[in-house]
Amino acid sequence: MDNLEPDKLSASGKSIYSGSSIALLTQHGKEKVIAPVLASTVECQVRLVTGFDTDQLGTFTRDIPRLGTQLEAARKKARMGMALAKSSLGLASEGSFGPDPYTGMFIWNVEMVVWIDDTLGIEVVGIASGKASLFHQLTANWAEAKKFAYKSGFPMHGLVVRSQHQDDPRIRKGITDWETLHEAFQWASTEADNSCAFLETDVRAHMNPTRMEIIAEATQDLARKLNTLCPDCNTPGFQITNRVLGLPCEGCGIPTRETLADVYRCVRCSYEVTTARPEKKAQAGRCDFCNP
Ligand SMILES: [Zn+2]
Ligand SMILES: [Zn+2]
Repeated sequence: MDNLEPDKLSASGKSIYSGSSIALLTQHGKEKVIAPVLASTVECQVRLVTGFDTDQLGTFTRDIPRLGTQLEAARKKARMGMALAKSSLGLASEGSFGPDPYTGMFIWNVEMVVWIDDTLGIEVVGIASGKASLFHQLTANWAEAKKFAYKSGFPMHGLVVRSQHQDDPRIRKGITDWETLHEAFQWASTEADNSCAFLETDVRAHMNPTRMEIIAEATQDLARKLNTLCPDCNTPGFQITNRVLGLPCEGCGIPTRETLADVYRCVRCSYEVTTARPEKKAQAGRCDFCNP
């Protein structure tokens, strides 16, 4: 393991992917946010691959469950795009929703963008997360449905309407105007035994600008990693994989649980570098002895 000053690890000037083209399989318009970020940072061109219904791999509306982890799902899509485009370079993104890691009170959206390069034999993953724009409501009342729609950022954010309950197969997706929403509400509540329509945010990327922003951030994270080369073998994707804890307390000098240094690791040759954080002392408020 080597020790390096952080500034020695800054992103390189020219991307090794400059001028190359990468296959992206998506049917939800993700290229609109991914392509410009990669063009300006990694200097590569995104080649949109269609012709496969990615909803078959799982949907957020629970009609088709996703198999495997989020990363496995993204990888599978990237591989499919590479096969369809006959390319050794592919990328894909996958999102997930769950309780926020801080309070558990909000719905949290994690986006992953996976880059696969079969020529170098590497996989690099960009990640970003944030509060999701994801709401739902069961109601028999149009005024209440309208109030819900305003609250969920409609019509900028699309809606899904179901009859009766949240898992009913009678479903209309991708609703982005008031007339269609009203019509879908009437259809769903008339069909239902309980006279209720179940309204929910459409979280497919092209229907949800909040999610699109997080996908763009994940792509920026990916680009930073791709533009950081391994000091030993020059492979892109040199990134933080571990942290060394124990930053000493400013009051008593005892090691705290704050980060002292970051460990960077190469995705190809496993070369590691530990870089000290610029801060030399932890605040006493973070110390178990000074602030138990
Ligand atoms: Zn390396
Ligand atoms: Zn202390």
